[in-house]
Amino acid sequence: MSIFEDTAPKSSRPRPLRVAVLGCSGSIGTQTLDVCRQHADKVQVVALSANTSTDKLVAAAREFGVGHVAVADDSRVHDPILDELPHGCQTAFGPDAVVELAQLPEVDCVVCAVVGAAGISAGYAALKAQKVLAYANKESIVVGGDLLMPLARPGRLIPVDSEHSAIFQCLVGERTSDIHCLWLTCSGGPFYGRTREELAHVTAADALAHPTWSMGSKITIDSATLMNKGLEVIEAHHLFEVPIDSVRVLVQRQSRIHSMVEFADGVVKAQLGPSDMRIPIQYALSYPERWDTPSPRVDWCQEAPVTFGEADQQTFGCLALAREAGRTGGTLPCAMNAANEVANAAFRAGECGFLDIEHVVREVMDHTKVEPVQSLRQLADVDAQARSQARSVLSGMSR
Ligand code: MG
Repeated sequence: MSIFEDTAPKSSRPRPLRVAVLGCSGSIGTQTLDVCRQHADKVQVVALSANTSTDKLVAAAREFGVGHVAVADDSRVHDPILDELPHGCQTAFGPDAVVELAQLPEVDCVVCAVVGAAGISAGYAALKAQKVLAYANKESIVVGGDLLMPLARPGRLIPVDSEHSAIFQCLVGERTSDIHCLWLTCSGGPFYGRTREELAHVTAADALAHPTWSMGSKITIDSATLMNKGLEVIEAHHLFEVPIDSVRVLVQRQSRIHSMVEFADGVVKAQLGPSDMRIPIQYALSYPERWDTPSPRVDWCQEAPVTFGEADQQTFGCLALAREAGRTGGTLPCAMNAANEVANAAFRAGECGFLDIEHVVREVMDHTKVEPVQSLRQLADVDAQARSQARSVLSGMSR
């Protein structure tokens, strides 16, 4: 007899978990499909979306035999490859078509792996439709946490971000009122230990040589500026209902500890394991169960020492900016995130320097009139305005 009460296992389900994978061609999307492939007895992929990569969408739709696909970019309507979709597969185009997949009656769980703020409408719709939402899209929680969190019922919003999955796992069986603080671990990024002078000359190619995790290019640059960690601080603040300043950042270069929770009595729980995004993705699908690992196990006897350090907010200004935006709240995180998306893309395109990213974000934040968050439409307006402001800051710099 266990001393713990059993949580109802999903294997008592009469049928596999029916999953919609939104953003199936990106890094998280393809790793999600990998998990679904390995657990085909427990998971059935029923709907898929992609932004522009119709070739990958069609290949996945054929492999999993899905009944519904959506292409966010509606200029792809006449893509000849779409003729190769499975017979009877329903196809729709445009951002609204992606949102509709999140509400299909035959979907139990929505994996939202759309990149950037575009994932907010789909996440909102999934929660409204009372689906389980495996949310990989941190930007949506950062921007729209005030709208999304009131819709999230217990066990219905499972974070996929590795740090937040770790914290979620540490909190199973605990009371959030017993949290003293959250420790978000951070690899430090590819430019850990560099000076501001050195950072002024780094390129996107330097940053894309990220040490540990397999990630998309937007998040890899965010990891280099530490904006990713800043976004994650705000994400944790919303998900676990703790003040911004109770979310602490801890540099853990080996990425072995995926995050920790410190409780009122001084006890700290940490989650450790392989650095493989498929594990938090799989946990979001298997919760409250655990399924066989998709990844080689860590040989703890052979592990290098685990080290801890403080994040350098002076050198990596984006982390301080994100904390400031999170503390202020309202529409400021939305404006900050939009400015960062524009500056991040400009840096990847070689149109601005590394330190210009934080400059653009700072400028846009300074010019944002902060209001309480009221609607998705309002957030879309704030987002558009901040993007155009960010572009004008960038063009002013190149002149
Ligand atoms: Mg993360």
